[in-house]
Amino acid sequence: MKFDILTLFPGMFAGPFDESIIRRARNKQLIDIALHNIRDYALDRHQTADDAPYGGGAGMVMKVEPLAACIEAVKAQNPASTVVMTSPQGRRFTHSVAAQLALRPGLIIVCGRYEGIDERVRDLFAEDAISLGDYVLSGGEIAAMAIVDSVTRLVPGVLGSDESAGTDSFCDGLLEYPQYTRPPEFRGLQVPEVLLSGNHELIRTWRRRESLQRTRTLRPDLLAEAELTKEDRKLLAELEREDGGHDR
Ligand code: SAH
Repeated sequence: MKFDILTLFPGMFAGPFDESIIRRARNKQLIDIALHNIRDYALDRHQTADDAPYGGGAGMVMKVEPLAACIEAVKAQNPASTVVMTSPQGRRFTHSVAAQLALRPGLIIVCGRYEGIDERVRDLFAEDAISLGDYVLSGGEIAAMAIVDSVTRLVPGVLGSDESAGTDSFCDGLLEYPQYTRPPEFRGLQVPEVLLSGNHELIRTWRRRESLQRTRTLRPDLLAEAELTKEDRKLLAELEREDGGHDR
């Protein structure tokens, strides 16, 4: 999986892409991340990448020419890659969007700054637009990091078998069950007995039940969309009986 990131601030990516899982995935050549400084594609002597908005108003707008040149140069090297804009106006980033993006051979992620990007960049080049959520970031860089991080986790071979993505929250439409590690007791709080039992079948059922319980309490919207097995329905019916049939 090839990630090309187009940004005015390539220095921001140094930390997050040089540690832990992303670093290992890069070293194993399961992913390749290239940073492109949009300013390098500015045409004038001062390398101007932004200008005042037509129609007036506060702030600056990223110019179309440097971005067009940058996107075209990167796309020429990676013709199969998809141009993805980061934007609060894009489609909301979720696990299923990450899973769709992970199937593409490469992503060219465009990071905006200031008041945003000249609309003609979107008109001419955008194949997708992603929003992290309903709030405004100062730039697309943190959104690009979140996209690269979560998509990388889904690239085959990136996570070892003992850290598989298969049980993570959202993977099957539910939140993950609670996790514990040593010690067995802390400030009077015990690790649930069943997890110490060594009985894998009991543990599996307990985890599934907790997963359903959490999702039902914290994210009923997810539960409504999840694909449930027969066992899930039975567990849910039990949970409902337990709180007297009242939804919380
Ligand atoms: N004026 C624009 C926001 C510009 S914020 C508007 O109201 O729509 C500057 C840049 O930050 C954007 O171009 C985008 O790249 C990035 N950005 C801001 N909020 C974001 C979000 N929620 N998700 C993804 N990218 C975001």
